[in-house]
Amino acid sequence: MSAIDPRADQLPDTGGPAQPLLTVKELKKYFPIRGGLMNRVSAHVQAVDGVSFEVRKGETLGIVGESGCGKSTTARLLIGLMPKDAGEVIFDGKALGDGLSLRELRRGVQMVFQDSYASLNPRMTIVDSIAFGAQVQGLDRPRERARDLMARVGLDPARFADRYPHELSGGQRQRVNIARALAMAPRLVILDEAVSALDKSVEAQVLNLLNDLRAEFGLTYVFISHDLNVVRYISDRVLVMYLGEVVEVAPVAAMYDRQAHPYTRSLFQAMPSMDPDNRTKEPPLTGDPPNPINPPAGCRFHTRCRFAEDVCKAVAPRLRPLPGAPDHLTACHLHDPASGHRRALSEAAE
Ligand code: SF4
Repeated sequence: MSAIDPRADQLPDTGGPAQPLLTVKELKKYFPIRGGLMNRVSAHVQAVDGVSFEVRKGETLGIVGESGCGKSTTARLLIGLMPKDAGEVIFDGKALGDGLSLRELRRGVQMVFQDSYASLNPRMTIVDSIAFGAQVQGLDRPRERARDLMARVGLDPARFADRYPHELSGGQRQRVNIARALAMAPRLVILDEAVSALDKSVEAQVLNLLNDLRAEFGLTYVFISHDLNVVRYISDRVLVMYLGEVVEVAPVAAMYDRQAHPYTRSLFQAMPSMDPDNRTKEPPLTGDPPNPINPPAGCRFHTRCRFAEDVCKAVAPRLRPLPGAPDHLTACHLHDPASGHRRALSEAAE
């Protein structure tokens, strides 16, 4: 019998199931680059540039893209770990700074990072690490809560409560980090490459644990990963980022069945498969992503896209639904006959 009701301390659901739990509008983060004698700002890395999306209540939204595409920076902006330069973060109908404080946001949204060891204080016992956040937030019975959560994530409190992080395996430490996030009674958990450093067998156990916890605690996840097989397993919808922008969003089945954006197609074609009949149809991506200090004008993918035309170099495509698929959005002129892209025009004429 549980000592703590996992949902009792969560922030209340104010808008009902139809209201997204998290809405992100035109989020921007540019990192200044300083140099010279006066240490002046000489340029900016455009890490996140006008990112907008929604996270629906109870779903897992997978975020994928190459290293440096801005997915981890986006995650840190969502939880207020770094200040945004522009844009809005709205949690269950309340905007950060306008009805929603940073403290409330951190109660509602928790994060689990890739490096399970660096996330924990090496001088704190496991039970103290898990209880700490709940104590700071003034939640009831933090140590009892911590021991209860340890049992829920598969760590026997009698054996592990008084151990230190270095006495645990990577998988056990990541279970501690999950328990630590849950101790704050969040409604949304951001998992930033949270299983990437684990062995495959441990990874599968932790993924199943995350699925069980989502149902039991009524959680919503944002799951960031470079592993498309893992994202397919755990996600309900998938969002693809390229060079600081969102290029495609779709339900998981639609995304893995038919990618609309040429970048997404190349990314998915590079996914390893055990099926000998599953041959690569698209040419692989060539070259490195362009420099985010000076990204290409128009469509940022045009320097690597085999369908690029003049319109792609001049006009940035907007994220819009595919014809007949309101839930499948992509930012590519190929799917917009009004863009003037020749291939889009010829397909529209067929
Ligand atoms: Fe390629 Fe043009 Fe589509 Fe960009 S907008 S992905 S360059 S076809």
